[in-house]
Amino acid sequence: MKSAIGIILLASTALAQPANATDVRAIMGSIIVDPRTPNVLDAKCDSYLDAIEELRDAIVTSSEPASIENALVPYDEIQGLLTSGSGEFTLYQQVLLSPELRDAGGACTVRLGSVTSEIGLSRPIYDRIVGIDASGADAMTQAYLAEVIAGFDRSGVSLDDESRARVQAINDELAELSTLIARNIANYVRSITATPEELAGLPQDFIDSKEVDENGLITLTTAYTDYQPVMAYAESDELRKRFYEEYGLRAWPANDEPMARMFTLRAELASILGRANYAALALEDKMLDTPERVEQLMADAAEAARPAAEADYARMVEVLQTIDPDADELKAWQSGYVSNIAQKQLFDYDRQEARQYFAYNNVRDGVLELTEDLFGVEIRQWDTAVWHPDVEAYEMIDDGEVIGRFYFDNHPRPGKYTHANMIPIYPGVTGTDQVPVGALVQNMPNGDHRTGLMEHGQVETLLHEFGHMIHGMFSGTQRWYGNNFLNMEWDAIEAPSQMLENWVFDYDTLANFAVDAQGNTIPRELVEKMNSVRYFNAGLGEMAQLGLTNVSLRFHTEPVPDDLGEATRAWRNQYSLITIPDGDQMQAAFNHLDGYSAFYHTYLWSRVVGADLFTRFENEGLRNPQTADDYRRMVLEPGASVPAQELIENFLGREITLDAFRAKLATDTE
Ligand SMILES: [Zn+2]
Repeated sequence: MKSAIGIILLASTALAQPANATDVRAIMGSIIVDPRTPNVLDAKCDSYLDAIEELRDAIVTSSEPASIENALVPYDEIQGLLTSGSGEFTLYQQVLLSPELRDAGGACTVRLGSVTSEIGLSRPIYDRIVGIDASGADAMTQAYLAEVIAGFDRSGVSLDDESRARVQAINDELAELSTLIARNIANYVRSITATPEELAGLPQDFIDSKEVDENGLITLTTAYTDYQPVMAYAESDELRKRFYEEYGLRAWPANDEPMARMFTLRAELASILGRANYAALALEDKMLDTPERVEQLMADAAEAARPAAEADYARMVEVLQTIDPDADELKAWQSGYVSNIAQKQLFDYDRQEARQYFAYNNVRDGVLELTEDLFGVEIRQWDTAVWHPDVEAYEMIDDGEVIGRFYFDNHPRPGKYTHANMIPIYPGVTGTDQVPVGALVQNMPNGDHRTGLMEHGQVETLLHEFGHMIHGMFSGTQRWYGNNFLNMEWDAIEAPSQMLENWVFDYDTLANFAVDAQGNTIPRELVEKMNSVRYFNAGLGEMAQLGLTNVSLRFHTEPVPDDLGEATRAWRNQYSLITIPDGDQMQAAFNHLDGYSAFYHTYLWSRVVGADLFTRFENEGLRNPQTADDYRRMVLEPGASVPAQELIENFLGREITLDAFRAKLATDTE
């Protein structure tokens, strides 16, 4: 599964330079790498909240006429603090070693969420902001101010006192539920046991890494690092079926109740704010800004994907029949395994052969060098304390100046976040010494060819997540915190990462870092095969993703179903050609229902936009420095200061179309 950016802020968003700027930046400045007790984190959280309180007081107690300097500047600093606090404490929640510390991280994100909501509902702050005379301000500041005001309107500031109080209570409860849902997903890891014989087909290094217990059994947990290889390689259909079923029960039933409550509260919130449903509210500040536009995209995408998906399905069943002549249907637990065999049979592509060329250390260096080559920056080690020995730290230099800093926490350990994401920790703003800081939190193998071999899909994920980091680093040049890239339309935010994935299918790029243990560079022929299988099953995959997009939209346009699992299966099955089995409860671990709510279409739309953006590189060259520079300046650097549609169309020199997306799916049927 392609991963997300770690955090979402409720408010629109953020500057720096006022009288108390030093204090504000000092708070945002540094991560506590070794908090011995939750109290240390609680105290840091207090310092964020105290600083925010001070700024709020400064805005509303001023006796001067409202101005950019005395109202918008401190308001924006509050946004900077909220963004930083959410980033920093999301990091603690995901990476710290003890549950108590991770919970303290989660608790602070709840407190910050509550303050975000309070500020959004504060009439005195709103009155000062709308009272600003911005007639003499520059266009960007005026646009920012207009957005801030629109954000206030969306949050319900103009409601009566009673309704505002209810909105605040709903937002507080939603923040609690969000933490509970995430904790359940992290804690309710499930496992199965298998005999060593059942692991036949799996890579030897995987088998060697498993201990056989006194009963002669091996334990497999529902962590990605076990689940993905087993589903791709285990010859035993029975093992994959058992594992698939167990995997479909993660965080279930624990999350059904909080999720149902979350949907109910969201519907109530939308109703108080006068919207037809929560999807209508959540989509207002997106590129596709109504449920109808999302449905239109889904219809267009399904039309493009269905013929490819049907062809995929037929080919997959044929391949399945070479193993099981009686099979007439592809089961959910067979698709990964059969796809892998199909890649060998139909395209002579062996993922295990490819894996020999992707040792983590080399891949990491290759991704950093690609970034240096494309954008003319330098990346070097950053000498700083880290929270775990596995963590690496870097800084990005442009023209002799440090423009950003980042951490790689790329390897699994117990209790850590189990997916892959990029956490923007601190935003950067121009005119200060504050540069963006971010972290990749992932679960990749570690080391050289002995211990760190990665699937090509993992290489793609690493580059995808690093794409978010590049966006974060390059967009730290805005005047306002609130124009940080995190505040752009959320259905545009995945597009740069989707686009960047194309480079791991480029021979010249791979030849720089993909070498086997003997030092042989990846053969060109193997890369050609990777490209020929790249869109195989793209139709099936797109239809499966449309199922999830449907789930995300329906939970926020329709009454809350009595049985979340049943509704989820039905909504997925409207699109997926591979039937979701009865009893599957994937919704319980589908944390995007919390984070992305009604706009999971973000991934689909980003594939559309990412494919369209890539057309310029395809035409002008993947290493064309002018194209890369245009891309950096026109698409990445502006962050949220310019509407996404404008950024993208400026770079393309035309309107966005689905043509490139359709063309990729069409290659699947060839
Ligand atoms: Zn992403």
